[in-house]
Amino acid sequence: MSKLLAITHALILPMDDAHSMIDDGTVVIDGDRIVDLGPSREVLARLSAPPEQVVDAAGKALMPGFVDLHYHTALGKGWNDNLPLKEWLDDCWYPIVRALDADACYWAALLSYSDSIRSGVTTVNDMYRHVEALADAAADLGIRAVLSNDVADREFGLDTLDDARRLLETKQGAANGRVQIRVGVEWLPLGSHALLKGVRKLADEFDAGIHIHLNESPSEIELAKKRLGGLSPLEAAYEHGVLGEDCVAAHCIWLTDREIDMLARTGTHVSHNPVANAKLGNGVARVLDIISAGINVGLGHDCAECNNSRDMFQNMKFASLLQRATRTDADLMQPGQVLHMATRAGARALRLPIGEIAAGKKADLILIDLNSHMFTPLIPGNRDHLYSHLVFSAQGACVDSTMVDGRFIMQNRRLLTVDESEILAQANRHFQKIAAEIERGRERLGWVSSA
Ligand SMILES: [Zn+2]
Repeated sequence: MSKLLAITHALILPMDDAHSMIDDGTVVIDGDRIVDLGPSREVLARLSAPPEQVVDAAGKALMPGFVDLHYHTALGKGWNDNLPLKEWLDDCWYPIVRALDADACYWAALLSYSDSIRSGVTTVNDMYRHVEALADAAADLGIRAVLSNDVADREFGLDTLDDARRLLETKQGAANGRVQIRVGVEWLPLGSHALLKGVRKLADEFDAGIHIHLNESPSEIELAKKRLGGLSPLEAAYEHGVLGEDCVAAHCIWLTDREIDMLARTGTHVSHNPVANAKLGNGVARVLDIISAGINVGLGHDCAECNNSRDMFQNMKFASLLQRATRTDADLMQPGQVLHMATRAGARALRLPIGEIAAGKKADLILIDLNSHMFTPLIPGNRDHLYSHLVFSAQGACVDSTMVDGRFIMQNRRLLTVDESEILAQANRHFQKIAAEIERGRERLGWVSSA
């Protein structure tokens, strides 16, 4: 007996360049890596010994897990819901993230990641606070997590470059390499030239990537210009060398042609977050122009406080529909392109060997139950029909199983590594405590306005 795991008789969508589909396919996994895939009969014939574990996936589609490219752990969903970005940040986001302690962050991360795993996310690019606790939560759950602090200038009471350095020293490569650390940057109305310089220097010193918010709303750009001598957030990031192939820039909604050129020339990756951008009334990114300029664009949900769902299927549908609606063109953003954004583009942005089912890649995979209204009718062998259902019809509940590093962390919609009822109870308890603290008064806690 070998130590191999085989997932057999699945409808495989490898998300390769050719958008191929294997009708009755088998994937063989050795430890954390994919070692073979193809038509079941051929792959099973190639095996020199029976695999240790066989999972029969007849009636299910097998595809790479989603990479949620812009993510914040969240505890306060559905609270202060109808505010524009700046007021929402001041009245909801900053009060919460300033009141959090490490224990609250640990349970908030378990809540967030477990929800994401349920809708097929295998990697999160998460910027938050008390990140050591997030790394522990990711390790306990088994999800892949690229983590960063919420770094701003010291006067704003969020995280600092010292916090980011400590995190790089203690958690880089934790959980058998499933935890990676980047240098994160809050939005630039809370930043400065010195901060941006420091961010690039720290990222280079540790060969770590950068995760930053840029040009999300007109008011952000105006506020940042006042602090940055007239430069927009994106121009300031460019000026200080923060942009680059190791940088993921979230949002990038309000861009000039010159700013698109800056992203393209530096090889910066963009996280497009269509649902959160729409909910906060921030606008619709020029994502087709950004893609046309040769920039790699992945998809993110942002956070459950400004999206209210961590379901990547919703983000895929919105990504397509917003472009079609605003450009009055039903030909735009077809499902194959959107699926690649949610898998391969995110993997490329984070420089991880995931996002595609291919020999040598990490086994970060999801099984999708096709026996439901979401996938009916389905013409056998018709890839475009299945792609259409995945982007326009499906919801996260179609995900039957989620695997990271060759290990199932959800099977038959049951999380295998944690007690979900405990997570829900603890998250409720911590949020109510924080909400009560916030209600007891901003002044006593000494919050600084970001205006
Ligand atoms: Zn964000």
